[in-house]
Amino acid sequence: MKRLLVPTLLLAACTSTGNALDPPPSTSTVPVEETSSEEAGEFAVEGSRGAPGIGDRLYATLGNGGYDVQQYRFDLEIGSEWSVAATAEISLVPVVDLASFNLDLAGLDVDEVEVAGFDDVRFEHLDRELVIDLGGTAVAGETIFATVRYTGTPESVPADAVPFSPGWQLGDEVGYLFSQPDGAQSLFPVNDHPSDRADVTLTVTTPIGIEAISGGQVTSEMSTGAGEVVVWEMDDVAPYLIPLAIGEFTLVSDRVVDDVRYDVWVSDDLIEMPAVEVFEVQPEIVAFFEERFGPYPFDRAGALIVDDLLGAALETQTIPTYTATSAQWGEIVIAHELAHQWFGDSIALEQWDDIWLNEGLSTFAHWIWLEESRSTERYDAEVENAYRMLSGLELVGNGVEPAEAIDRVRDAFPPPDDPRAANLFNRSVYERGGLTFVALRDAAGDEAIFELLRSYTARYSGDTITTEAFLELVEEVLGAEPRRLVESWVLDVDIPAMPERGLSPPAAG
Ligand SMILES: [Zn+2]
Repeated sequence: MKRLLVPTLLLAACTSTGNALDPPPSTSTVPVEETSSEEAGEFAVEGSRGAPGIGDRLYATLGNGGYDVQQYRFDLEIGSEWSVAATAEISLVPVVDLASFNLDLAGLDVDEVEVAGFDDVRFEHLDRELVIDLGGTAVAGETIFATVRYTGTPESVPADAVPFSPGWQLGDEVGYLFSQPDGAQSLFPVNDHPSDRADVTLTVTTPIGIEAISGGQVTSEMSTGAGEVVVWEMDDVAPYLIPLAIGEFTLVSDRVVDDVRYDVWVSDDLIEMPAVEVFEVQPEIVAFFEERFGPYPFDRAGALIVDDLLGAALETQTIPTYTATSAQWGEIVIAHELAHQWFGDSIALEQWDDIWLNEGLSTFAHWIWLEESRSTERYDAEVENAYRMLSGLELVGNGVEPAEAIDRVRDAFPPPDDPRAANLFNRSVYERGGLTFVALRDAAGDEAIFELLRSYTARYSGDTITTEAFLELVEEVLGAEPRRLVESWVLDVDIPAMPERGLSPPAAG
């Protein structure tokens, strides 16, 4: 993510949804008989059914099985009180012969579903699963085209992984997406998992005077009787990384540096906020990272700053999303979200439980930016503070017995590659993940670690990654001993020592 959590996380005001209404019958589509979600797998079909989950180890129902999305074309018309009338056209390739498949969609009213070439399509909207029964069989490997028409008022959706509801958020006269990990389905019917990325064309119609900001390229912009219509095209994006904000915005900066365009869009009410000027540093950060991580993976960067108090930022692809709160964190969060464009956006996760690869690398990245822009002392202090918190040294310093301190940190901070489902974005994922790369740098040197990271982006940009594949790369580029070092940092229950820094966990005595 994108998301840099701070201890004083402010919770978004949000309401839960899940009260999906059955759609009315139409000439082309007939809802199937009403069933509960427990029974949903049982209605008889010929051929095979796409599973309601993509096979995520932590979250069984996220995403959907049986197909690979190629492209989404979303057309949203924004009405009064944030109501939406929308059409989604989805091209997808079945990976097995499919008689039915699911899309993730939460809390909106599906009016019609059509699939080209299938005359007896039926559908059912169960809570967060839109089940589409083809009335026939789609052949593995042959692209099919589905159209979903839906209306309603989007709302954020509860998530197991995070202490607030991701998805569609309402700030101060602004609506925006903050979707990690599975909130894109609050606005779009999608395969809501990072391992299934697709190209997206997003058309948004807003009332005159209201802007819609997204990512990628604007390919059309016009005013009509219906309002302002803008079309955005994004390549190869995971649903949770689709940016969108709607409200009164001003483009305060649109510099182009080294062929990358840096648009900074700010909610009108925040234009005078001093933190906005800090975003001018972005090209400098990108140039610094390019030397260490390889070429910046997109032709746009920038910032979308929304007037809301959610205490988080998100690495939405090509234009990270910041709130009035997180924008105040300055260069740390800006560097962090920009690093995610390499780690998380360009290289996507195959499984959510490998999130340390995104967050650990982005934390390491913002630490080395502090070293570059401030001082080595600042970098060392960040590293030591993180180590003292995660190891229990801080507790011992506050008078806790060492054995008790060790118990507490074992409980609070599981190994980075073993996060708990109820707390995916544990600080261990960020900071012990980041310390992993500090330890590797301490042991192997700058040249080695940045060669590893450039090899990583060269091989996996545009692809998905697993911890196992990353470990194999470490061994291939740096050798068996560095691989063992990384394994001890991300897999062992207890945090390793950092001998070059004179840091080791409290002795239980
Ligand atoms: Zn992050």
